[in-house]
Amino acid sequence: MSGATNDMTTGLHAGRPAIVTGGGSGIGKATAELLASEGARVCIADSNGDSAETVAEGIRSSGGDAIVHVLDVSDLEANDAMVAATVEAFGGLELVFLNAGIGGHSTILDADLEAWRRVIDVNLHGTFHGLRSCAPALVESGGGSIVINSSIASLVGGRHMLSYYASKHAVNGIVKGAAAELADHDIRVNGICPGLIDTPILGTNHPETSENRVKRYRMSIDHLLNRLGRPEEVAGLVSFLLGPGASFITGSIHLVDGGLSATLDNNMAASVSR
Ligand code: NAP
Repeated sequence: MSGATNDMTTGLHAGRPAIVTGGGSGIGKATAELLASEGARVCIADSNGDSAETVAEGIRSSGGDAIVHVLDVSDLEANDAMVAATVEAFGGLELVFLNAGIGGHSTILDADLEAWRRVIDVNLHGTFHGLRSCAPALVESGGGSIVINSSIASLVGGRHMLSYYASKHAVNGIVKGAAAELADHDIRVNGICPGLIDTPILGTNHPETSENRVKRYRMSIDHLLNRLGRPEEVAGLVSFLLGPGASFITGSIHLVDGGLSATLDNNMAASVSR
């Protein structure tokens, strides 16, 4: 953690029980740490128990409250167990960041069906499973807020990642449908669309050689801000959407993309220089 002391009594999310899936790395890690520093009690839920435990240890050593739950989000029963463990530890559930996701090479002409299904299982079914498992606990707690991590890839398409584009487009539909269904229970649901954020997922998204990967990083000039985003810059938006300042915001999709989607200018300039 950054060394900030957690504020369990006066912070923005003071005492509120939270779950962050994929909380062991990247955007989930930064969000879990921010929520905890703002007083939330956080379940770090991740398939990687070691990294989740490292994040939880950091939170605890800064005076915060965190537990770890190891799961594969594509498994519905594992999501139920995650919620049960959180409610048992913290007495309820109010804040949820459904963030766990994977990338993957996927095309039409040389489709690898197993790889296609895995991306859909984790990114789409995993999101629905998390929602289905968490929603009853939020209702039981008298309401709450959910943020779902979609992607800029939910708004546009591109080459080589068809399963990822498909899964993230579908996730936006979940955001809107869930917001409508859960509004009467005082539960808000919003989605976020990060641009390219500097996390380990970027290294696994693309099957090209490392030279090509470096080229893709250089292509972060596609962002108007001329750089990759940092996980902390996404965490700030998630914390806001989960918090009281967003009390009239639900069913909407929020960009945090450094201007990537704002203009064709840089994309065209990049393609000319490629
Ligand atoms: P990351 O650093 O790889 O973190 C993802 C975390 O989720 C990892 O700890 C990973 O564990 C875990 N995870 C993967 N599959 C899981 C599963 N089936 N069940 C439970 N946990 C699982 O990636 P990130 O960039 O922070 O990505 C988080 C989310 O942001 C994803 O939904 C991604 O699509 C979205 N996003 C990322 C970017 C970007 O440029 N980084 C842009 C837009 C959207 P392992 O370490 O074991 O894999």
